Amino acid sequence: MTNKGRLIIISGPSGAGKGTVLSEVFRSNPNLEYSVSATTRAPRPGEKDGVNYFFVTREEFEQSIARGNMLEYAVYCGNYYGTPADFVERQRLRGRDIVLEIESCGARQVKEKCPDAISIFIMPPSLSELEKRLLGRGTEAPEVVAARIARAKEEIDSADFYDFKVVNDNVVRAAEEINEILKNN
Ligand code: ADP
Ligand code: 5GP
Repeated sequence: MTNKGRLIIISGPSGAGKGTVLSEVFRSNPNLEYSVSATTRAPRPGEKDGVNYFFVTREEFEQSIARGNMLEYAVYCGNYYGTPADFVERQRLRGRDIVLEIESCGARQVKEKCPDAISIFIMPPSLSELEKRLLGRGTEAPEVVAARIARAKEEIDSADFYDFKVVNDNVVRAAEEINEILKNN
């Protein structure tokens, strides 16, 4: 019998650097799987269906909810985002650790269902640096950036809910801190 894989929740405001830091964490952790979420938001240039997200319609998303196929889901800045439950469960049964990169409402739902999940919140060094990163990424229209910054403040207010907080002042350092957390927990 293989031990069941761990559930690892990564949250943090948009632009904090979750994706960037996670790429670094994945490089040094071959036993990690990434949970590809479903979303109703439009793909950004370069994003691929089934790799970055499963890009679905609102109708498809609502059907998945009705069928009980989502481990958790939330509405974020006007779009649905959710974690397909079956992939997560299959990976865990194979003994693989799985990373859920999700916002704070979803994180609470997962913690309720799976109290053993390890939750990590990625903090930006400051709000002004967050705004700079989000604008610098250049993937959202100005009004979307404004909505994300407003939501970022709520996300940061929820940071105390998490088991661990990691400041992303430097990508390699933040990734090493996450590696240490995963090694010791
Ligand atoms: P998230 O996934 O949290 O929305 P991203 O990983 O897309 O954030 O990062 C947002 C932007 O900030 C990207 O342009 C990325 O290159 C940049 N970035 C990430 N981490 C750092 C860092 N430690 N210092 C400076 N820029 C960073
Ligand atoms: P983005 O549009 O920048 O890819 O993601 C916006 C926010 O949605 C981020 O905070 C991201 O972590 C969150 N998110 C991505 N996938 C999921 C998911 O499956 N469930 C929940 N609850 N949030 C998600």
